[in-house]
Amino acid sequence: MRGSRGGNFETPQRVETTVGTEVQENKRVCELRWDLEMTPPTTGGIRSDAAGDGHFGSPRGSRTHKGTDFACYPGEPVSAPMSGEVYRIARPYADDDRWLGVAIRNSEYKAKLFYVDPYFSLIGSHVREGDCIKSAQDITQRYPDQGMAPHVHLEIKDKDGYLDPETLI
Ligand SMILES: [Zn+2]
Repeated sequence: MRGSRGGNFETPQRVETTVGTEVQENKRVCELRWDLEMTPPTTGGIRSDAAGDGHFGSPRGSRTHKGTDFACYPGEPVSAPMSGEVYRIARPYADDDRWLGVAIRNSEYKAKLFYVDPYFSLIGSHVREGDCIKSAQDITQRYPDQGMAPHVHLEIKDKDGYLDPETLI
């Protein structure tokens, strides 16, 4: 029953102290996020549809999925999942150069994003986590009539191999 004794001067001081603590705490959490976490490339959740499950390790014929698929709408702005150098265009299909993406690297990780129409001017330059790298393609045009949802594929490697992107986001 705080305030029932009418502490006119104490109450505002308590509030001020609490708010100050929260600001400090939020600042600390943001700094941790900046250091440890990545940004999802689209605003959609993880794809799961008739054509496949977008989680890391899901079956893909005789193989498993080496990344995470984030649902999107075609043309949606795509964010860089991490800070680093955009060191090359990525091409998911050797036999079909309509489909594009980017490869980004930093001191810890290499990330590849597929089915993204990139700003070619970014090649060779640095992006920060969350920077717009342009827009999502419509991968369902390659796999029509399979019930596939449009999505962007993200895969991340460190020096030991592929990682589950969900553990980093
Ligand atoms: Zn995928």
